Amino acid sequence: MARKPFVAGNWKMNLDLAGALDLVGGLTGLIGRVEEVDMAVCPPFVYLQAVREALQGSNVYLGAQNLYHEDKGAFTGEISPAMLGDLNVRYVILGHSERRHVFGETDELINRKVAKALTDSLEVIFCVGELLEEREAGKTLDVVSRQVKVGLEGVPRDHTDGLTLANVLTIAYEPVWAIGTGKTATPDQAQEVHAMIRGLVADLYDQDIADAVRIQYGGSVKPDNARELLSQPDIDGALVGGASLKAHDFAAIVKAGIE
Ligand code: PEP
Repeated sequence: MARKPFVAGNWKMNLDLAGALDLVGGLTGLIGRVEEVDMAVCPPFVYLQAVREALQGSNVYLGAQNLYHEDKGAFTGEISPAMLGDLNVRYVILGHSERRHVFGETDELINRKVAKALTDSLEVIFCVGELLEEREAGKTLDVVSRQVKVGLEGVPRDHTDGLTLANVLTIAYEPVWAIGTGKTATPDQAQEVHAMIRGLVADLYDQDIADAVRIQYGGSVKPDNARELLSQPDIDGALVGGASLKAHDFAAIVKAGIE
């Protein structure tokens, strides 16, 4: 089944305001009108408003890097889904390995965030992936399937306005040992895990959802490896960290999704 590729840039805690605007200027010039690939950039919270304005008139959507699963209240330092909605943020990255391993987010917390984001009409990029020692111990499929199962527990198949889970959820397989390290999973290694995730989604929901849900690969995706990764049958795009900070590199990865 043909799934439209989706390439998203996770800027993490990088750039300053001028750098963010420069990058958006470069991106809109290079790929602002691309229609064959869905595209998003996920800046730090404080630059969302400025980046939103700079993206106007382009096909590049806005995403956030995190949220908190409550509407409001005494949650110092946190950002609610409605606050993101106010800025026309479309996507939110949840379960990123840095949230899991630097900030101690558990599968259960990520599950609450995923459920709340979807209830509040955000689209979720839900990240999963194993540590190096888990891969070396042969536990990759177990770890990733636990993350998917717990992360999606209680998340319904059907959403408002006739949308299904596949319309509002993207799963990103990001082996932790490949993030920011320059080590990429081989296309075969990535494809094996993507196919397992798709099968699991069929078990948890049904085959229609599994066929339609997009599964991005993330982990040192660069212009020179993007085409081979994105040509795998179950790889539907990329979540890009380092290379998303360079307009030409990000644009080249988007273009790899067209071919
Ligand atoms: C990421 O942060 O999601 C990521 C994949 O980073 P990088 O592309 O730098 O490995």
